[in-house]
Amino acid sequence: MVENAQKLAPKICMTAAGFLVHDNKVLLVKHKKLGFWLAPGGHIEDDELPHQTAEREFWEETGIKVKAISTGEVLPKVGKTSYHPLPFAINLHWISPENYEARLASSNPIKRYFSNQKWPKGCEQHVSIIYLVKLIAGLDFKQNTEETDGIGWFTLKELEKIKTIPEMKEEAKHALILVK
Ligand SMILES: [Zn+2]
Repeated sequence: MVENAQKLAPKICMTAAGFLVHDNKVLLVKHKKLGFWLAPGGHIEDDELPHQTAEREFWEETGIKVKAISTGEVLPKVGKTSYHPLPFAINLHWISPENYEARLASSNPIKRYFSNQKWPKGCEQHVSIIYLVKLIAGLDFKQNTEETDGIGWFTLKELEKIKTIPEMKEEAKHALILVK
């Protein structure tokens, strides 16, 4: 680690994800790059609201149309200011400490570093804004084979048997409880 490591904070991308619960099961997709099961989600694009990202990514990865459910009261519009669904969790997690280290060691450590093949956007940390979502059409899914290696429905018990990360289990557990 170079000496300015203490001064430079990791770069943070804003992302959003959605949990769909049906019959006490949660829908997850197997992430191609990471090789484990996650809720559908991705980077928030320019001019996009976080809940719109969760809805769009859900559609892109599963072919299921969903809408974010607010976990609290959404205030009515005040003039031209609008209010939007509340997520049930927001987490911060590391994506690539390697990108962070590479950037700190680079000639211009202020700028995002794009050399990492696995994370070409120069991702270092992600904030994930996590929504509960509900169906707005049918439940039939079609796997997006470019992005996912599988789609499945899992009970809390079944989550113990699949390849995922502990925080995913916590979030899924919370989503299952909220929908009960
Ligand atoms: Zn990122």
